[in-house]
Amino acid sequence: KELVFSGVQPTGNLHLGNYLGALQKFVALQDSHECIYCVVDLHSLTATLVHEDLAEQTRSITAAFLAAGIDPKKHIVFNQSQVMQHAELAWIFNCVARIGWMNRMTQFKDKAGKDRENASLGLLAYPSLMAADILVYRATHVPVGDDQKQHLELTRDIAQKFNNDFSSRIADLCYGVEMDVGEEKVNGFFPLTEPLIDGPVTRVMSLRDGSKKMSKSDPSDLSRINLTDDADAISKKIKKAKTDPEALPSEEAGLEGRPEALNLVGIYAALSGKTRADVLADFGGRQFSEFKPALADLAVDKLSPIATEMRRISADPGYIDSVLREGSGRAREKAEATMKMVREIIGLIGD
Ligand code: ATP
Ligand code: MG
Repeated sequence: KELVFSGVQPTGNLHLGNYLGALQKFVALQDSHECIYCVVDLHSLTATLVHEDLAEQTRSITAAFLAAGIDPKKHIVFNQSQVMQHAELAWIFNCVARIGWMNRMTQFKDKAGKDRENASLGLLAYPSLMAADILVYRATHVPVGDDQKQHLELTRDIAQKFNNDFSSRIADLCYGVEMDVGEEKVNGFFPLTEPLIDGPVTRVMSLRDGSKKMSKSDPSDLSRINLTDDADAISKKIKKAKTDPEALPSEEAGLEGRPEALNLVGIYAALSGKTRADVLADFGGRQFSEFKPALADLAVDKLSPIATEMRRISADPGYIDSVLREGSGRAREKAEATMKMVREIIGLIGD
C-alpha cells in the first residue's frame, strides 16, 4: 500500500523553493494518497542546538502547511520530537549505516564547511534520522526537492542493508512484504522508498546566484522569495534577480548555459502549472524587462493568499499546538507498531 511521508525543518522562513519543491506537491498528493507531513524539529538542532525561536518557527511551518491546503483531519500533521520512535529508530540506523556513507553526503560537506571536525555529530548523522522518519511509517513515497535525492538513495541503502542483515529473522517472524529489487522479488521488512522529484523545477536556485539553491539559511534575503513576502518585496526581488542580457529563447534548448534564465522560466512554469516549453512559446523573443513583471504578478497571485491564511492561522498558537498534539498521537500509534516489530527482529527485549 502506498504511503507518503515528508518533512520540513523549522530553520527559518519558508521560501519559494520549499513551496515548489515540497509544499505544492504535499497538497497535490492528498487526494490520491494517505500522507504524513512532519515539522522535523530534531533535524533543526543539527545546525544550531540553541534556537530561541524554535517553538515559534515550528508553529510557523505548521501554519504554512495548513495555509497551503493540507487537511490535518484527513492526513497527519505533527512535529517530530513528539514521536520519540523517530529517535529510537535513528539510533538503530546509526548502527546499520556506515560512516563512509555519511561522509559522502554533499549536504553534510556543504553545511559543515571547511571546519568539518567541528560540525555536530548530529549533522553527520542527519540522513540516518531522515531514513528513520520515513521508514518508521514504512512510507513508500517521499515528495522532496532535488537537493534531497542523495539522502533518499541513502534511505534505500539503509532499508536494504537492514532487510539483508536480518533476512532470516524477518522471514521467521513473517514480518516481510514482497518487493521488487531490480529483477528480483525480495521479502523485506522496510520498503525501498521512492523519491517524488518531478515537475518543471526540481531545484529552485538563488535569485542572486544561478549555481546555488534557494535556501532558508542563505544570509542574503534578496536571494529568496519568502512565503510571507508582500507584493512589493516580491516584485523588488524579481526585478533585482540576476539575469543575462539576452532575450528569452523560443525553445528549451536555448536555455542551456543560461542558469538564471532556466531558473526563472522554471519558476513561472511551476507556478502556472505549465511546462517550460509552454512558457517559452508565450515569452520567446521577449526581454527580461517584460518577463519579470509577468513573473512577479504570477508569484504574488499564488503566494499572497497563502501568506494571508498563514497570518490568520498564526494568530491562534493554541490551535496550532492542538493540531500538532493530535497529529502526534496518531503518528505515534503507527510508529510504535513498526518499532514493536523492529525490536523483535533485532532481539531487543520489550513488552
Ligand atoms: P535549510 O537551509 O535549513 O536546509 P531548506 O530551505 O533546505 O533549509 P529544508 O527544511 O531542509 O529547507 O527542506 C524542506 C523541503 O524543501 C525539502 O523537500 C527540500 O528538498 C525542499 N527544498 C529546499 N530548498 C529547495 C529548493 N531550492 N528547490 C526545491 N526544493 C527545495
Ligand atoms: Mg535543507
